[in-house]
Amino acid sequence: MSWTMWLVPPIITSIFFVLGVITLYWSIFNWVTAKVESQNKPIDIKKVQIAIGLTCAVVSVFALQFLVRDSHLSWTFTNFQLLLLIFVAYFLQLKIPHWLIFISGVGFMLINGNVTAPLSWVYTTIFVLFYVISYQQSIHLWRWPFTRYITIAVAFALVLWGLVAVRFHLGMATYWIEIADYTVLASLMYGYFKIQDKDRRIKDRLFQSANWDALTHVQNFAAYDRAINYRFQNSSVHNEDLSMVMFDIDHFKQVNDTYGHLAGDEVLKAVARSVTDALKTIDGGMVLYRTGGEEFNIILPRCDLEQARTVAQAVFNAVDSLEIPYNETILRVSISVGVSGLSAADHNPLDFYKRVDANLYHSKEHGRRQITVS
Ligand code: GH3
Ligand code: MG
Ligand code: MG
Repeated sequence: MSWTMWLVPPIITSIFFVLGVITLYWSIFNWVTAKVESQNKPIDIKKVQIAIGLTCAVVSVFALQFLVRDSHLSWTFTNFQLLLLIFVAYFLQLKIPHWLIFISGVGFMLINGNVTAPLSWVYTTIFVLFYVISYQQSIHLWRWPFTRYITIAVAFALVLWGLVAVRFHLGMATYWIEIADYTVLASLMYGYFKIQDKDRRIKDRLFQSANWDALTHVQNFAAYDRAINYRFQNSSVHNEDLSMVMFDIDHFKQVNDTYGHLAGDEVLKAVARSVTDALKTIDGGMVLYRTGGEEFNIILPRCDLEQARTVAQAVFNAVDSLEIPYNETILRVSISVGVSGLSAADHNPLDFYKRVDANLYHSKEHGRRQITVS
């Protein structure tokens, strides 16, 4: 049987086409995010999602439209156009200016060679309105989301397909078949996207709990370990500075023994919060990790020893001036700090870590509440 004889009803092909594009989108999205997360780079998931989704959707629809441009069949892929709109506006929640959607619509009219048809202009205007309403729908958490979604999707399709039917002299039978196909596809897209999105959320939560400390809400040892390996490699390759600040709360056991374990927990939370705030005021790119019970670590990419010393002092001061209310008392703690920078003699992250640790130990040995830099 030759390819052209392959008699599969268009709706079946359409289903697989739409699901295929969404699957392609999710696969690329998961691959990119997994890759970025494994390097412990900061990432804006929403931006990645929009960039990949938009590319998949626009490329697929424009590619199809090229097949039928300028012909009496240029209406054939109208359903895909409408589904693209829903995908980008409703599922990706891409907020784009109305004039930009309008320009894309005009671009589409140019491809199809119907800029001179007044009906096409009416079509494009309603198309923009459809986009705006779909987007508004998606960002509000209203009741009966599916009922709302499908009602709006079908209402606009009825109007837009009506215009297409008039312009291309389509019969009522074609009109209703297209509307029926579209309703099936729009419903399927909803279900499929929601399933994938749920899956993504579960993965996010697992990633979150594997890398973040539940008590202090800073990243944990696993995240630190990945980050230091990545930063070590990166700094060696690009010959960039890299520093590390490590600190440990002094006589923390006494806090637990005197005021109880819950008081100790409050101290840990307050210390993590104040250090995070202090780091924010200095510069981005520095991340605090809880690497042990009351031991923390800060990786400073592109910072030399002098800059690290300044950061260490700011962290030290932040904790030193901290007053933590607990029941009727105010708790105060100090920290001992070790600081060092990456050296050419460090063959691996552990060599680097050992020097910082030795400096921290030096601070402890020499009376605590101090910073050792070397
Ligand atoms: P040093 O100045 O030498 O660091 O003395 P230290 O008492 O701070 O150090 P030590 O290692 O003797 O004790 C650390 C204590 O931290 C022991 C442990 O019970 C406590 N700890 C570890 N994790 C937690 C936690 O999550 N919550 C609380 N409340 N305590 C913790
Ligand atoms: Mg301690
Ligand atoms: Mg300790």
